[in-house]
Amino acid sequence: MSERKDATRVVTAGRREEWTRGIVSPPVWRASTILYDSVGDLRAAGARDTHHRLFYGRRGTPTQWSLAEALTELEPGAEATLLYPSGVAAVSTALLAVLSPGDHLLLADSVYDPTRNFANGMLKRFGVETSYYDPLIGAGIADLVQDNTRAIFMESPGSLTFEVQDLPAIVEVARARGITTLLDNTWATPLLLPAIAMGIDYSILACTKYISGHSDIMLGSVTAAQGKYAALRDATYQLGQTASPDDAWLGSRGLRTMALRLKHHGDAALTVARWLADRPEVAAVLHPALPGCPGHALFARDFKGAAGLFGFVFDGGDEAARAAFIDALELFGIGYSWGGFESLAIPVDPQRYRTATRWEAAGPLVRLQIGLEDPDDLIADLDQALSRFREKKR
Ligand SMILES: *Cc1c(COP(=O)(O)O)cnc(C)c1O
Repeated sequence: MSERKDATRVVTAGRREEWTRGIVSPPVWRASTILYDSVGDLRAAGARDTHHRLFYGRRGTPTQWSLAEALTELEPGAEATLLYPSGVAAVSTALLAVLSPGDHLLLADSVYDPTRNFANGMLKRFGVETSYYDPLIGAGIADLVQDNTRAIFMESPGSLTFEVQDLPAIVEVARARGITTLLDNTWATPLLLPAIAMGIDYSILACTKYISGHSDIMLGSVTAAQGKYAALRDATYQLGQTASPDDAWLGSRGLRTMALRLKHHGDAALTVARWLADRPEVAAVLHPALPGCPGHALFARDFKGAAGLFGFVFDGGDEAARAAFIDALELFGIGYSWGGFESLAIPVDPQRYRTATRWEAAGPLVRLQIGLEDPDDLIADLDQALSRFREKKR
């Protein structure tokens, strides 16, 4: 059969007959103890590879394996996927899998803030040195590589500011020097950016966001390229990382509609972003699919579409005017974890986190997650809230 399309694969992926036993989705298999028929069986189970085999609850049951395998199937060229209790746990475990004391890490300056905290906190404590790079550096990253550089951690588009990185150029530099590449692919998911096929070694998702799609679970995943799984598995097992079967089950349930949801998020966000770009109160819209966004040409080259999260900068105004705008919104919740069905708005201040680059803008920045509502209603809501911004700005 020809290569299946994404909308088909999210429906079929991970549903092995041996796991579903005729039920449409694998049920929630809860376990700590797995019972063996004999001492011989018990010893044999411990001696062989436990991947996707019942061994001990921490190594999962068909409920977790089904989602893990589905995520592997969505990343052509991948070897296997492991699940984590959160996106941050996925990030930290992947970094611990590839770094040792004395190593050097290159981290994008636009990376998700808790990733930065892990590098500056625990990694530093364990003797790993981190340098931050301009997300627009591209092949220029070669100049930052040291003899002890072991990993480059990317996130594209960047958190808060949405710069798109030249991933193939960075991968080429890394490969030539034997450096491991990791990508936080939460924004695009494998549907919009098949990262492993681009040569990335580890593709990381906060499944909390689009995989779940309903803002009701915490879950993360790391998908390893061929030959990269063993190191990830060892770190994961040693750290005792495991995701609950209930959350994995909800993740699988979310995955089945993800192609459809992402299409709506993407289309509606672009409609809203274009509307905002024409407003006099708005100085800039940071949406990778719009020409003004740094790295837009790379986005057009590498991504299969856009997701529903972007930012915009007010033309002037202060903290109070921004807060008045956000507080006036009726359909947008005020909260962090995006990827759900409901639209969200939060104030963001990238200057607090950046060290390799400077964030300068005409006014305060707002991050919007566009949910599954009708974009016309969202635009009407933004319109009335912008009048509150204008009142406060004067
Ligand atoms: C939310 C998020 C994470 C962390 O995921 P949690 O499940 O909330 O721990 C990691 N990376 C990015 C880009 C995120 O947006």
